[in-house]
Formats: sequence, structure tokens, C-alpha cells
Amino acid sequence: FNCFKKAFIGTDFMCANAQGKNLPRTYLDSAASTLALLPAQQATQAFLKYYSNTHSSVHLSAKVSSGVVTWAHQSILSFFGAEQGYSAIFHGNGATSPLNRLAKGLSELRRDKKTVLVSLMEHHSNDLPHRAHGNKVIHINIYDSDGEFQGIDLKKIELLCQQHQQQLNYIAVTAASNVSGHISPIYDIAEIAHKYGAYIVVDGAQLAAHAPIELAQENPQRSIDFFVFSGHKTYAPGSPGVLIGKTQLLSQLKPEFYGGGMVAQVSKFDFTLSEQVFDKEHAGTLNIPGIFMLATTLEFLRQIGMPVIYQKECMLTQYLINTLKQLDDIKVYADSVKTQRIGAVSFNIRGLPHELLALILNDYFAIAVRNDCFCAHPFVRECLVDELWDIEDEDQLPLYQGMVRASIGLYSNKGDIDTLSEALSTIIKQKAYYMAQYKRTKDNHFVH
Ligand code: PMP
Repeated sequence: FNCFKKAFIGTDFMCANAQGKNLPRTYLDSAASTLALLPAQQATQAFLKYYSNTHSSVHLSAKVSSGVVTWAHQSILSFFGAEQGYSAIFHGNGATSPLNRLAKGLSELRRDKKTVLVSLMEHHSNDLPHRAHGNKVIHINIYDSDGEFQGIDLKKIELLCQQHQQQLNYIAVTAASNVSGHISPIYDIAEIAHKYGAYIVVDGAQLAAHAPIELAQENPQRSIDFFVFSGHKTYAPGSPGVLIGKTQLLSQLKPEFYGGGMVAQVSKFDFTLSEQVFDKEHAGTLNIPGIFMLATTLEFLRQIGMPVIYQKECMLTQYLINTLKQLDDIKVYADSVKTQRIGAVSFNIRGLPHELLALILNDYFAIAVRNDCFCAHPFVRECLVDELWDIEDEDQLPLYQGMVRASIGLYSNKGDIDTLSEALSTIIKQKAYYMAQYKRTKDNHFVH
């Protein structure tokens, strides 16, 4: 793991130095997926020499694989400050699967409590699953009375908790927005939720690899009940989604899958579930290489130090925001709130459709960004409301209902942001030229 310096210049990440169209590529799409960490990939290759299924302690490979899973489980818990009283569950390919598993489990567990508070800043994956199980989802407004973005307001949450206490099951909130990068006060929200007998579900997809997280707090009222994140957003593509929860709560959930490995005994007539949460939740064979790669990657991040990573990325984010705001004709969204942000920043060039801007950045400048509504339609549409009034031709509206997002990772540096800024300045100056290079298809997409 002695790659601290190299990691910061990007040579330890697959494709960080990839070639774009005759140019070195600039990767500013880490909020969608971070690039793969090479040492963890290599360690996984090395582990595969010993790989076999778990669930046996007879032959060496089974012992090694079982040991690896036990180590990885403990190591992942420890990375998130959850060594005591928590268990991790590996589920699907990203954060969406465990969020769905949890929404179903909690809705079944407390059938008499049908209200869930969900912030308006959520990715659809931390909103729709809660709507899908007969719950009444109440959205926590993130705008003030003047329509200005305000972010998470604890007073609003407390008021909603008071109003809905009898029915309140849990509060679902993102740890950091995938649209604006704003970080939520999750420990304060946990305290409010617990005061009103509710649980807290934190979507950690965006924050997990970018800031220190301590799920177990000294004051247990401030501890997080459930936390979900994705391996592919923590430099470990191919690894599973993860749900970390208080063991005592997870043990009360009905298993989602039934099969091998999750039972204590089975007869022709009945069966008894394993008392171990980890076993009960993992019917069948695990994604063992993916789990190993994830724990190895997190170990690497731990060696660098999450406070160091957070500090470096905060500075870079501020540089990105300041650089964008210096350009004419650029609108940076949800910028009125000065709370801490991770490096996901959304913007538009006035009068240029978001899809076209993303295409121009890719096709002419080899800069990879994301565009559209980032699976967070309520938040994005709300940000765009003022501007959409300015568009006179209604046919043009769909072209402007989205944004471009630049997002950073461990391999990102000031040079990447300067490259983006130079490209944007050129595009702004020569907007008409670039627009003329593209044609619109019938379904409103652009082709070169
Ligand atoms: N929540 C947030 C905040 C996200 O950014 C994403 C992915 N964009 C998800 C949930 C869904 O995660 P996954 O794609 O790993 O299922």
C-alpha cells in the first residue's frame, strides 16, 4: 500500500492517463463511477490463485476464501467506524440494491408505521424504493420561502417528525448530493430521528470514498442505523453494493433470499434461520473477489487517511467552483449554500443544451463529464425552474431540462480543472461554431 504519492498523480488508477481523441483524456465523471485502483486489482488477481467457494474449512482454498471474507467484513466495518454492534451485507452491484432491500425490510418490520421522510436532494435510488412498499413518502423541502436553495434544514426535519411521529418509520437522506456535492448533517438528523422513535437510513454512495465517516458515535442517539454505499464509486468496480446496519436491527429483518448457507437446520417439514445476521442475509455464494477488492481498496484509502483525502478534495472542489464562477455565461447550481461540499458540481452554459455541451467537451476536448438529470429529477428540475421561464420556444424546453456535472476523485488535480476551464472559455466564445457542427435527431438528441 505504499503508493501514497503515486495515487495522487494518478498512475495507480486504471485509465487515469488514458488517451482521448488525440489528447490525454480528462476524467471528471467520478460521481458516476470512480476509476479502478490498480493495487487493489492486482491484489485481487493474486488472491484468485487461492480462490474457491467459502462454506468449508477442509481444503486450503476454502479456508483462505473464508478467511478473506471474514477479514473483509471486519475491515469494511472498521473503515466506517462500525466495529462494534454493526454488520455489513453485500447486495447486488451498487447502492440501489441494498437501498431496495432495506426499504422492503423496514416496511415489513414496522407495518404500523407507514410514513418515511425523504429529502428532496435524493437520488431516485433513495426515494423510489421507499415509495414502493405502501409507504407515504413526505419530502423534506430544501428551499427557503424565497425559493433559494437552502440544503438540509434541521428545523424542517424536526417539525415534520413532530407532525408525523405516530406514523414515522424512518428518515432517508443522502450523505452527499450527487448533483451539488452538498454534505448533509447526518449525525444531527440521526439524533432527531431517534428522538421521535424513527430510524435513519443514509445513502453514502457519494460520500463513502471522499470523507471520514463514523457510523457509531459516542452519543448513541447520534449513531447511524443504516448506511449504504457502492463499491464502484469507491475505486473498486466489480465489487458489490453494501448495507451496513446495527446488528440488532438487521437481525429483525425478514431475509430477502432463501437458500444455502443462511439456515441453522433444514428438515423436510421446517427450517431454522441462522442466528448470525451475516449468514442469514447471504443465501448462496458471495461475490468473494469483489468483496476482497473492496476491502483492499478501502484499506488503501485508510492508509492515505480519509481526513487527508477529504481536505485535498475540498480544496480542489473549491477551486473548481471558483474557476467555473469566473467564466461568463456559466450558471453553477445550488451555490447559495456555503456548507461543505464534495467534488460534484453541476452547471450549464446559458443558451447551450446540456447534452450538446457534454458532447462538445468529449468530442473536441477529450473531457469526460456527465449530463442530464443525474437520476435526481426533483432536485435538478427545481434548480432549473427560474431559467426555464426564459425559454420562449416550448419545443426547445426538453433540450434545457438538465445540467452538466464535473466530479472529481483521488486522481484529479488542478490541471484537470484548468483544462475544463480553458475548454469552456473556448466553447463560450465559439458557441455558434460548435453548435453548427451538430445536428438534432427527431428525438432531440445531437449527432456529430
Ligand atoms: N445514491 C446516490 C447519491 C448516487 O449518486 C447513486 C449513483 N449515481 C446511487 C444512489 C445509486 O447507486 P448505484 O448506481 O451504485 O446503484
